[in-house]
Amino acid sequence: MQFISTRGGMEPLGFTDVLLSGLAPDGGLAVPAEIPQVGAADLEELRPLSYPELAARVIGLYATDIDTEDLRTLTAQAYGPHRFPSPAVPLSSLSEVSAGLGLVGLSEGPTMAFKDLAMQFLGQAIPYVLRGQGKVLNILGATSGDTGSAAEHAFRGQEGVSVFMLSPQGRMSAVQRAQMYSLSDPNIHNIAVAGVFDDCQNLVKAVNADASFKSRYSIGAVNSINFGRIAAQVVYYVWTWLRATDTLSTEQRATFRIDVAVPSGNFGNIYAGHLARSMGLPIRRLILATNENDVLDEFFRTGVYAPRAGADTLATSSPSMDISRASNLERFIHQLLGEEAFIPAWRELEQRGRLDLSAHRSRMRDEFGFVSGRSTHADRLATIRQVHDATGRLIDPHTADGVTVALREMEPGFPTFVLETAKAAKFGGTVAEAIGSEPPVAPELRDLLDSEQYVTESDDDVAQLRALIVASALA
Ligand SMILES: *Cc1c(COP(=O)(O)O)cnc(C)c1O
Repeated sequence: MQFISTRGGMEPLGFTDVLLSGLAPDGGLAVPAEIPQVGAADLEELRPLSYPELAARVIGLYATDIDTEDLRTLTAQAYGPHRFPSPAVPLSSLSEVSAGLGLVGLSEGPTMAFKDLAMQFLGQAIPYVLRGQGKVLNILGATSGDTGSAAEHAFRGQEGVSVFMLSPQGRMSAVQRAQMYSLSDPNIHNIAVAGVFDDCQNLVKAVNADASFKSRYSIGAVNSINFGRIAAQVVYYVWTWLRATDTLSTEQRATFRIDVAVPSGNFGNIYAGHLARSMGLPIRRLILATNENDVLDEFFRTGVYAPRAGADTLATSSPSMDISRASNLERFIHQLLGEEAFIPAWRELEQRGRLDLSAHRSRMRDEFGFVSGRSTHADRLATIRQVHDATGRLIDPHTADGVTVALREMEPGFPTFVLETAKAAKFGGTVAEAIGSEPPVAPELRDLLDSEQYVTESDDDVAQLRALIVASALA
């Protein structure tokens, strides 16, 4: 399997190479040169596998340059019992809320958010590739909460990798802070910057802009455009279809298609669903849900993609979706337009700040199955309450955005699965606002909140950051 750049300026690379690189040298994103196909017979062969075994098989369709047995070891580590319950991804019914509605539990990992599923794979696969090449990597990132903690929990204690994670002082939830700062592993470096998330991101950019510093200190990233994360996310779409059809007869399975609703920000999670659908997985529709930052909803409704500036991005109660420029959308638009038409279209976007693809709107819906909707603070509170009243179960604000839009878009007779992207406990404040009382705090969470924290405070200053890196980077 070879990977090419969306912008056409990269020699084809294998999976392990794209795993270690960020953007392609031409500024584009790596996409598979061909999309592997899984037919009905393949799916039946995959049915008996456990989640880690399925992950090895599905990721293996892309990671053809990793030895099959080694890949099985990597996914067994990533999704094994010390990190996830069994099964790693449980499905449950929300039929009391609406007939045919289900929830896919993607938040059972160590940081209670779906990002663990992709990051735990990278946390095994990247050190494996580095070992093979005799290299080390110092991962530098900025987080507003979920990505940073998922990365730290995936790479803690791993040889040959260290993590420098910038976070905005005083801007994360108590749980998010505790998940990151309680780690005492010597290869994890938490840096709380006096500033907001954008300041953290600018510091990362400033360090990366210095090519000689970057190469001297082996600085890398594990951001949401990494194709390794996408490949690991395809797995749970396959898993969802398999578990949804376990009790059906062979004839029923042949025509059974599901709708999947995905709370979206950077288009990474739902792009993996789109890839799974393009591979032949029987997904009927992909229901994209945004919060008040609705650039993606606008795109799928009107065909016009108009990213917004950071200053126009609202701070909402589903903060991990407060994104107004969806990096992974480039991959979808590349597939939608094809190689040749993509380049001038992307130039237009860069020059004018918007891209009008309204001529392709019906293809996005009919050929690719996308529908979309937006949810607001009031919607999210009402949905958390509705699900709690009907089932006794608590869902988090991001998942609530997914349920809100799913309830609006779902059609009788078509089962609809909402991806649970975080646990309610992680965003207890909004959940309490919805149900009118504080949700119970699990004992593990209480212990976590009480643990000692390890964090270095820093000014919003690139020289200070560089000094911190120089002092602790692996060489
Ligand atoms: C990251 C995140 C999202 C958005 O996922 P994308 O891949 O960026 O679309 C949604 N919910 C939660 C809880 C997240 O952490």
